[in-house]
Amino acid sequence: MALVLDGVRVREAIKGECRPRIARLIERIGRPPGLAVILAGSNPASQVYVGSKTRTAAELGIYSETLTPPESVTTDELLAMVAALNARTEIDGILIQLPLPAQVDAARVLMAVDPAKDVDGFHPLNVGLLSTGRPGPRPCTPAGIIRMLKHYEIPMAGRRAVVVGRSDIVGKPMAMLLLAENATVTIAHSRTADLAGVCREADLLVAAIGRAAMVTKEFIQPGATVVDVGMNRITSAEEAARVFGQDPARMAQFEAKGSALVGDVDPRAMAEVAGAYTPVPGGVGPLTIAMLMVNTIESCERAASQTNWPQMNTDKHG
Ligand code: NAP
Repeated sequence: MALVLDGVRVREAIKGECRPRIARLIERIGRPPGLAVILAGSNPASQVYVGSKTRTAAELGIYSETLTPPESVTTDELLAMVAALNARTEIDGILIQLPLPAQVDAARVLMAVDPAKDVDGFHPLNVGLLSTGRPGPRPCTPAGIIRMLKHYEIPMAGRRAVVVGRSDIVGKPMAMLLLAENATVTIAHSRTADLAGVCREADLLVAAIGRAAMVTKEFIQPGATVVDVGMNRITSAEEAARVFGQDPARMAQFEAKGSALVGDVDPRAMAEVAGAYTPVPGGVGPLTIAMLMVNTIESCERAASQTNWPQMNTDKHG
C-alpha cells in the first residue's frame, strides 16, 4: 500500500517549531513578527486565501494586517503602499496577493517589495539567491514540499526527480530546491516531447500543472514518490466520474457540493502505482501557509540580528 504523505500532520509539526521561535523573538525584541498583506480588489478566491493566512498568523501570535485597496487601485497607489510598508520596522513580511487587478503593473509592484521582507521569495534578488545556493527566503509551496519529503525521510540525493511545470512560483523554484538536495532534476512543461515517458523515469515526480487529473498511470514509475501540487476545482459531473469513478465517497461529496478539488494527478493512479503520494486535498495545500509563517519569522529573526540575506554567509557548502 502506498504511503500517504499527510500535509496536515507536517503543517502541525511546522507550526510546533514556529511557536518557540516567536516566543524567543517577543522576549528579545518586545514584539512578535509582523506580516502585512495587500489584498487588492474583491477576488473571492484571494479573499479566502488571505483569510486563511491571517487566521494562521493570529493562531501563532504573529501580528498581521490586511490592506484592502479597491479593484480600481493604480500601480502608483500600490507602489506607495509598498513603500510605506517597507519603511515600517515592525513589519517583517509583505505579501502581495495575486492576481492583482488587470490595470496594475504587477511585476513593478512585486519588484518594489524590499527583498528582505519578501516572504514569498518572488523578488528577482531572492530568486538569484536560491539559484546560486545562497541562504534566502524560499517560495512557500516548494519549500513546504521539501520540508514534507524530509519529514517522511523520502530520499532525494542521487534520485531522478521530474518537475512538471515551470512557473516562477512553483515549478522553477521546486526544481532548484531539489537540485540543492542533490537530486538529478528534469523540468518538463507543455512542450515536452513524450511527457509520460519522461515522467516515468522519475523516482520523485512533482506535478505543478493546473490540469485536473492529467497525470495518469502511464506517467508513474511503480513505487515512485508523487507530489501533486495541483488545485483544480471541477464542476462537471462527467469530469468527476472520470476522476473519482471507483470512489463512491468522493462522488457523493461531489454530488452534495456540486464541485470538488482535484489535483493534477489521477488519484486512483497515485494510490495504485506510487510508493508514496500527497493526496488532494490534504497534501501540499496545508504546507504553503505554514511556510509563509516560517518565512515571516525568519525575516523577523534577521531584522532582530540586523543581518540581511545577501550579507549572510554565502558558502553554500557551509
Ligand atoms: P502555471 O503558472 O499556470 O504553470 C503551469 C505549468 O504547467 C506551466 O509551466 C505549463 O507549461 C505547464 N503545463 C500546462 N499544461 C501542460 C501540459 N498539458 N503538459 C505539460 N505541462 C503543462 O501554474 P502554477 O502557478 O505553477 O500552479 C500549478 C498548479 O499548482 C495549479 O493547479 C495551482 O492551483 C496549484 N498550486 C497549488 C499551490 C498549493 O499551495 N497547493 C500553490 C501554488 C499553485 P508552459 O510553461 O509550457 O506553458
